[in-house]
Amino acid sequence: MMNTEDILIMIPGPVPVVPRILRAMAKPVINHRGTEFAEILNECRELFADLFQTRNDILLLSGSGTSGMEAAVGNLIGQDETIVTIVNGKFGERFRDIGERYGRTVPVESLWGYPLDLDAAAAALENGADAIAMVHNETSVGMLNPAEEVGKLARKHDALFIMDGITSIGGTEVLVDRWGVDIAILGSQKCIGAPPGLAAVSVSERAFEKMEDVQNPPYYLDLKEHRKSAKKGQTPYTPSIPLFYAVQEALRIAHEEGLTARMKRHAAGAAAVRAAADAMGIEMFPQLDEKSRYSDTVTAMKVPSGITFDQMKQEMLDSSILIAGGQAHLKGNIFRIGSMGNFRPKDILITIQMLESILHKHGIVSDFGAGIEAAGSVLVDR
Ligand SMILES: *Cc1c(COP(=O)(O)O)cnc(C)c1O
Repeated sequence: MMNTEDILIMIPGPVPVVPRILRAMAKPVINHRGTEFAEILNECRELFADLFQTRNDILLLSGSGTSGMEAAVGNLIGQDETIVTIVNGKFGERFRDIGERYGRTVPVESLWGYPLDLDAAAAALENGADAIAMVHNETSVGMLNPAEEVGKLARKHDALFIMDGITSIGGTEVLVDRWGVDIAILGSQKCIGAPPGLAAVSVSERAFEKMEDVQNPPYYLDLKEHRKSAKKGQTPYTPSIPLFYAVQEALRIAHEEGLTARMKRHAAGAAAVRAAADAMGIEMFPQLDEKSRYSDTVTAMKVPSGITFDQMKQEMLDSSILIAGGQAHLKGNIFRIGSMGNFRPKDILITIQMLESILHKHGIVSDFGAGIEAAGSVLVDR
């Protein structure tokens, strides 16, 4: 039996949780209606506002990232409302499916890993829609969608803009106010490097106004109730207190590092993986003309011929490193390496080193050492 404490998880969430955050969770459980909890909640809301680059209200939900997605859609979309959903990966599909549950959904679909068609999105909005939902960093394919452009389209057509920033906020530049994002969503186990189980959402005044008209919003995730409670330093229902400790500590760590440095570190991590892949002859899964559209927090690559994903994963795991595969129809075809959260350059280097050794052993990499050298030079340059 492998000791799970030794496994380096290089998947795109959950990410390794550093000891400082783990220790913070070991504090006693407190009354969630007291001043001590209010101080924690208030600090988290303020520090999150920095990461989101927003003056909008921040609300914390006890639930994984998807609870934030459902809160956003469910509070803005009822039977009488229409939502346009951008679908070019697994998480875009999730917005589509949630939309169908609550109201009318118009999906704008491209093949997974292909840039969205902005004209098609504009056409869908022209037919009249209350909101548009998009995943900023599509984790399933390692690609960034054009948030600023979609924000402009939303404004032009007077639709609210919901953005899943679950694997971008805190790792990649996200400008909620500048881009006009009405509801932005973050998950605790991704870029801030806390354990899974909390979601944070920023909500604009426009979005709160719209919520007044929406029939049958979710009960547990009613954002109007969450806002009322937040004003008193509380949550409507009992929050996951240990996760609040963790998120508070994670946000302090992010704050100490500084947002700019944090984004640079994420960008360097992903650039190092891409450089190594290139040197080893491994192709990116998304083929993007604009290099800036490659994700800074997760790199999705094609499984090279000569090895199966399962073999690759097992041999990496034998060396105590966990990598991710593809989801749905991409299972077996792609593999993904995260550069997300409080990772250090050495985590990237050791992952690339081991991957290169395995691929070399299988006769896939001939110029042994080129991958690690490429990764190293990216990480050292910065
Ligand atoms: C991880 C992730 C989610 C949320 O998943 P949960 O399992 O509910 O935390 C949503 N969107 C994206 C882009 C993600 O990467």
